Amino acid sequence: MNPHQCDIFECGSCGYCLDGCAVYSATYSEALSPRAKSILLRKYAEGLLDLQSVTERLYTCTMCGRCEDVCPSHAKITQAVKTWRAAHPLENHTLRQSVQSACEMGNPYTRPQSERESWLALSSDPEADVAYFPGCTTSLMQPQIAQSFMRVVKDRLPLQVIDDVCCGSLLSRTGFLAEAQEIMERNITYFKTKGIKTLITSCAGCYSHFLEYPFNIRVMHTSEILNTYLDELEPQPLCTTYHDPCHLLRNSITSQPRRILSSLSSYTEKESQSCCGAGGGMLLNFREVADSICRTMLKNSLPDVTLVTACPFCLYHMKRNSFHKMMSIEELVASCV
Ligand code: SF4
Ligand code: SF4
Repeated sequence: MNPHQCDIFECGSCGYCLDGCAVYSATYSEALSPRAKSILLRKYAEGLLDLQSVTERLYTCTMCGRCEDVCPSHAKITQAVKTWRAAHPLENHTLRQSVQSACEMGNPYTRPQSERESWLALSSDPEADVAYFPGCTTSLMQPQIAQSFMRVVKDRLPLQVIDDVCCGSLLSRTGFLAEAQEIMERNITYFKTKGIKTLITSCAGCYSHFLEYPFNIRVMHTSEILNTYLDELEPQPLCTTYHDPCHLLRNSITSQPRRILSSLSSYTEKESQSCCGAGGGMLLNFREVADSICRTMLKNSLPDVTLVTACPFCLYHMKRNSFHKMMSIEELVASCV
């Protein structure tokens, strides 16, 4: 990689990004901060650092992009991280296994596809040109999200369920671009043969990755669909707050989940928003740091307030790290049918 290809050299080392960085806030390790990532790349370019030490630190990043939101110099940290990873993939057995599983088994979790919820296929309308794509994490780890969404749209929206392929987002974000490209091309052909014109997903990571696909299919998040049914639903006596998944925040899906929560529950905005720590391969490669980020984020949660989110991966990770009440936006809406 030629580090000068990246705008990371715009960094003026001011440090404004430190407090907003989930990795720094959980570890207080300056060496893992966005500013350090920029310095490391410079020092590597000067021949002062070895490859391995830079690679490990550039993989210690959720790619949440929150550093970029506050950077006065507009340093493109996430692009630099992505470019570095593509040039110098982390040699890690777990990561390699996930990549192989996504390519060969159709999900990154080394789980047989038969474990996906078979009822989804039964609810599918093969003639519909609108598809529901739950995504591997929903289907294999938080299937109640898909069940809830299908319960709400039943008799409202005919859907073709596509639940037998991986979108490839993990591969794209962890440096395996050739494999991600192969999956993407395969999926585009597959969606075409299925006659899909609109793709609805409940996964923030799939949503964000599908927006990068070069196809003419409209991509929507489930919260955009659920928003259209609010007049037909019964509000619940439930106190809620909302966690913004980074991949939705980056793509301006922020008002739709809040509108749902405000209409169907007693909603209060969280005091602050930050990354849950699971994304960008962090949960896979640096589980302890990912957990520490999540616990730091959740430490001010209120016991009587249900934390709602709109991404199965955030939900899965937050549930692993807290006993507080949590649910998906799909589950909340299904409880109001
Ligand atoms: S805010 Fe931007 S310029 Fe300042 S240290 Fe962070 S990356 Fe560098
Ligand atoms: S993308 Fe997120 S985790 Fe990575 S350096 Fe920036 S703020 Fe930190």
